[in-house]
Amino acid sequence: MNVHTNIPLKNYLSMKIGGTTRFMTDVSNIDELHQVMTNAKTQNLPFFILGSGSNVIARDDEYPGLVVRVRIPGFEVVAEDHSTTTIKIGAGEIWDEVVARSVDMNLVGIEAMSDIPSYCGAAPVQNIGAYGQELADTLVSLEAYDTSVGQIVSLSNDDCKFTYRDSIFRVEEQGRYIITSITLQLYKSAPTPPFYQALQNYFDEHGITIFTPKVIREAVSEIRREKLPDPAKRPNSGSFFKNAIIDQWQLDELLREYSDMPHYEMGEGRYKIPSGWLIEQCGFKGQLLHGMRVNPANALVLINESASGYLDLSLARAEITQTVQDRFRISIEQEPLEIA
Ligand SMILES: Cc1cc2nc3c(=O)[nH]c(=O)nc-3n(C[C@H](O)[C@H](O)[C@H](O)COP(=O)(O)OP(=O)(O)OC[C@H]3O[C@@H](n4cnc5c(N)ncnc54)[C@H](O)[C@@H]3O)c2cc1C
Repeated sequence: MNVHTNIPLKNYLSMKIGGTTRFMTDVSNIDELHQVMTNAKTQNLPFFILGSGSNVIARDDEYPGLVVRVRIPGFEVVAEDHSTTTIKIGAGEIWDEVVARSVDMNLVGIEAMSDIPSYCGAAPVQNIGAYGQELADTLVSLEAYDTSVGQIVSLSNDDCKFTYRDSIFRVEEQGRYIITSITLQLYKSAPTPPFYQALQNYFDEHGITIFTPKVIREAVSEIRREKLPDPAKRPNSGSFFKNAIIDQWQLDELLREYSDMPHYEMGEGRYKIPSGWLIEQCGFKGQLLHGMRVNPANALVLINESASGYLDLSLARAEITQTVQDRFRISIEQEPLEIA
């Protein structure tokens, strides 16, 4: 295990913005992780756990700590019955490769989350989701290194307090747990409608009426190729803003003014409003703001076209959030976390 110094973070983040980190290291097993974390604690060194950097941004100044990349492998069927297969997966496995393997095994549960750039260890952090599925639907439990006690612990689905693009790992317990494996329970039955609207539209357009995990994976991949810019060619962090969640009274008020405002019921009197729609209504779709392009195909995505650094990104973010706030009285939140 090597510890590298003065590493430019932008080479490791899909937004391609950020200064250097003082130290960076990879760990490929629990003993290495324990050793690294013990050393960091002894030296009072701040640390940040990095996956593939697709949902993280960094400031321009040096991060004065240690960036740890968890690359623990593993893919093991741990239980099976007539209707389900339960698989334990190492945090260092690439999410989409795991989706591909589950689809090859004809298992249902994560196929609509194809092509999400992620390591498996990062997937629970924001409860990744797409096209009607989210990780919380299939995650049984996970194992994590609890930095407060220096030991591996097991957390159940309930312990993770998953909600829409959120979990205890993002805010409440940020930095406490380093996820080392996840355990998913997938299903042997065929996928059944109703499907997410965009997916159903695709099936209708292509005359698809027989549904398998493979059919869904292929459809999702094609839809995503059209909607999302490839970070390797056009640097971005996927959705830069979370969709807004508002209360019934606020929805009623807004619908009086904007009767065409799309909204989706989330239960308990809460509604999801696509932030992309709000941003588009403010006229930002396709605009270049401080070197950041608001994606013409999906206004939730900001593309780093010519930003000089974090300052430009934060100016673009402020302009968008303030305009949405002024017009709709909705405060939209940034999705990517920041290395700090
Ligand atoms: C083009 C594009 C499309 C995207 N599409 C989607 C989508 O459809 N749905 C969706 O939900 N997201 C999407 N995202 C966001 C992103 O893919 C997810 O958030 C993903 O889980 C991030 O994984 P990562 O390995 O890149 O983690 P990183 O971005 O490196 O890290 C994300 C967070 O997880 C933490 N973390 C990473 N590994 C661990 C670990 N082992 N233990 C504890 N904490 C850890 C980090 O500290 C950080 O807080 C997209 C991003 C891009 C660029």
